[in-house]
Amino acid sequence: MCMVRSCSVVILVFAIVVSAAAQDSASPGARSAASSGATVTTSPAHPAEAAPPAATFDDVIDRVVQREHYFNAQMRHLHPLVETYLQNLKNDATGNPIPVKDEYFLGRLDMTDEAEDVSFVGQPGFGHRMLSKLTGMYSLHYLPMGFAQMVLLDTDFQKKYYKFSFVRREFLGEVRCLVIDVQPREGEKSVRFKGRIWVEDQDYNIVRFNGSFDPQPKNDVFFHFDSWRLNMRPGTWLPAYVYTEESNLKTRMTKPLHFKAQTRLWGYDLKGLNKNEEFTQIMVDSPDSVKDQSDAAADASPVLAQRMWEKQAEENAIDRLLKIGLLAPPGEVDKVLSTVVNNLLVTNNIDLQGDFHTRVLLTAPLESFTVGHTIVISRGLLDVLPDEASLAMVLAHEVSHIVLGHPFDTKLAFNDKLFFPDEQSFKRLDFKQSPADEEAADAKAMALLKNSPYKDKLANAGLFLKELQEKAPELPNLIRPHLGNGFGGGKRMSLLQASAPALDEKRLDQIAALPLGGRIKLDPWSDQVELSKAKPVAITSAREKMEFEITPFFPYLTRLSTSGPEKVALTTSPGHDQTK
Ligand SMILES: [Zn+2]
Repeated sequence: MCMVRSCSVVILVFAIVVSAAAQDSASPGARSAASSGATVTTSPAHPAEAAPPAATFDDVIDRVVQREHYFNAQMRHLHPLVETYLQNLKNDATGNPIPVKDEYFLGRLDMTDEAEDVSFVGQPGFGHRMLSKLTGMYSLHYLPMGFAQMVLLDTDFQKKYYKFSFVRREFLGEVRCLVIDVQPREGEKSVRFKGRIWVEDQDYNIVRFNGSFDPQPKNDVFFHFDSWRLNMRPGTWLPAYVYTEESNLKTRMTKPLHFKAQTRLWGYDLKGLNKNEEFTQIMVDSPDSVKDQSDAAADASPVLAQRMWEKQAEENAIDRLLKIGLLAPPGEVDKVLSTVVNNLLVTNNIDLQGDFHTRVLLTAPLESFTVGHTIVISRGLLDVLPDEASLAMVLAHEVSHIVLGHPFDTKLAFNDKLFFPDEQSFKRLDFKQSPADEEAADAKAMALLKNSPYKDKLANAGLFLKELQEKAPELPNLIRPHLGNGFGGGKRMSLLQASAPALDEKRLDQIAALPLGGRIKLDPWSDQVELSKAKPVAITSAREKMEFEITPFFPYLTRLSTSGPEKVALTTSPGHDQTK
């Protein structure tokens, strides 16, 4: 299937948001997992399933407590990835908070005993226990576990510890909720949640809670958080987003804290990506019917053998990244990316015989790289690129590595190289290119872009690079790549930067980069990604540009129906227990 010879060029596949002062909404749309894989197995511990609606407020609270216990039990069997990206803020001359420093955490949640998680990026804070150990260096070092903890309201949630007061009914997305204020009872000594909860009014699951923990420990602080759950399986709401913000938090040990942070969880159903099911479903065939189907009944020629070897290394690497939960399964966004790559190839008369692929890395740091003939681009980078031409710039660089035949380390063709703990992924997997090859790819990319439909639209791409270079000193953790080459020090595609217009922070029609979280929507259950359908919002002041910044979450909540077509397996493998 040669995609290159089709002579049509498809443009405008990537939402262009840079028309006069229009900008993608910062809200990461978050319809829940209606399109996710596995067939639903009704959870055995689903006490509210057949229960009639609660009659009194007291009944409601009983149900909420019961559901929360079920939730806590369920979380012990789930091991999603947890990513926190934090920006320290400082007010600029006009009193507008701007990022001056950042932090990045990625780990896998393990609440088997007490909440604990395993770090991919090697922070000292990982591995600490929760609640009891939220002291110590917390305010000096943000403890990653502190953010992961904000997915739990209270591991010992009991009616007797709290005062509940009904506030009102309110819709979050299409889900009608009861809004309830929750405070620890007087004299309560243990650390308890204090704030507001939103409870969906069918099964009485908490779908959002907003507040902090109380009392504050002596030497440390609990942050304020806004924690959201999505309906990922029928009857099951699981943590997906936590937004944290403090504007002037005084602690004993440091100067006042001023920061905002986004925590995202995904990779709940990594088992759905495993192929073990395929094995259990193998039927025993008669020997006649299992002859190899390959048409060339000969050994591979030397050149073909080399290609097959490289392909094997590429497939091993991609498969491993997928199973860890770092890579999205193939999907709709890949098609958009492939279309842009194809636009570049067609207009340059390059025929890769259809042999290239594009995939989305699910993490926030801005990076792109190639693994053999697969181009990988991070969710964070897709989020912040201002338009399709900027995307073409990133993809042009990567496809140039393929076109120029840059070497790819084939050690991963040996399967034992893939036997390592997930959290060592960033150490064991490395897709960096040499500086010389980086330079060559830049030069080739410029040539590709010159002949492409993007050639007259590259001003924004140059502006993006300029903005990136300007913000790099404050945002090292956003810009530091973990698997490939970064945009390091603004070197990448420097010719484009040089030809771009001057940056003007005040101009509303100049959007050099978008905030994080506006473009890619991730299904935390299946890891599928799609382009957000949030309508662009015209910004009204330069403050709303928020280039590379993080914002609060306002997902549009939807409820999976417990009967109906959503239950049919659409993508991944069917029929495993979602609570294991
Ligand atoms: Zn490169």
